[in-house]
Parts: sequence; C-alpha cells; structure tokens
Amino acid sequence: MFCLKCGTELATRFIAGRERLACPNCDFVYYRNPVPIAVAQATWEGQLLLVKRLIEPLKGYWAPPGGYVEYDESVEEALVREIKEETNLDLEIGGLLNVYSKPNTGIVFVAYRGRIVGGEPRPGEDAGAVAFFAPESLPQQAPPREKAPLEQWAFQVIQDIIEDFRKRGGG
Ligand SMILES: [Zn+2]
Repeated sequence: MFCLKCGTELATRFIAGRERLACPNCDFVYYRNPVPIAVAQATWEGQLLLVKRLIEPLKGYWAPPGGYVEYDESVEEALVREIKEETNLDLEIGGLLNVYSKPNTGIVFVAYRGRIVGGEPRPGEDAGAVAFFAPESLPQQAPPREKAPLEQWAFQVIQDIIEDFRKRGGG
C-alpha cells in the first residue's frame, strides 16, 4: 500500500496503541476503521418495506433498504437518500432501532425505524424488486451457505430487523 498524500510505500509502525501502516516520509497514518451503513425498518400501513438484493453480500435475499453514508451527509440524510434511490419512496425517520457492530467485518449497521410518507415504489439500480410485507406474510429465508463471517452476520442483522417488526405486529 502506498501513501495517499505522497505516494511513498507504507510501513508498519507502533502508533496510538497498536501496529499501523504509516508513511515513513510524511505524517500519513492508515487508520483502519469500520464504515457505517444506514438501514431502515420502514413501514407503510402496517407493512414492512423490503428490497430484493441484486448484489453480494446476500444476493437474492429480501432485506431492509439502506446503504453507505457519504462524507458530506449525516447517517439520517444518507438513509433518506438511499431509500429514495433504491425504492423511489420517501422516508420519514422515526427513532433509532439498533446499532449492530461486530469486529473484523468492516461495517457498523445503524438501523432506524421510519414511515413511508410518499412516492411510488419502483426498484433502483441495486434492487431487483421492492415490496411491502404484512407481519404474517414476511419472507422465510434460509441462512446463507457461505461461511464468510460478513455474510452470516449481515443475515442475522437482516433477520433481527425483520423479526422486531413481526413481534410488534406491524406497529
Ligand atoms: Zn506520505
């Protein structure tokens, strides 16, 4: 790996409590941190909004919509934008549902409750389909066959968000 500032090859050095890759030529340090992904448990008339994933991980699974947070937006702003891009629907954010964090996955899921307040459902580039599910007709999904920790964990997160909705009976 090479320095983002000056292009010198990075070397391992002990900085701020652990070994990190750092530039021998300037002050650049490669801090490796997990990245937030905003996710929505979005409802409309007692039904849960899910999108069918077109990309890995969990390609082909129904999942709550969401996505990466850009540098110039808040997590909430990112979520509203992602829902619009993926489903063409307008999200009004309610409260924080949960924060899901696991070492070595590179990701922190930040899940919000919310309501759909406008728009016509239409799948965007990353979604194969957009649908609303009543609590009694939620998709039954088998865990992924891949043993990759990220896949297994992301599946648990998805199921947790869906299960929370089912338990509350669509409220
Ligand atoms: Zn450098």
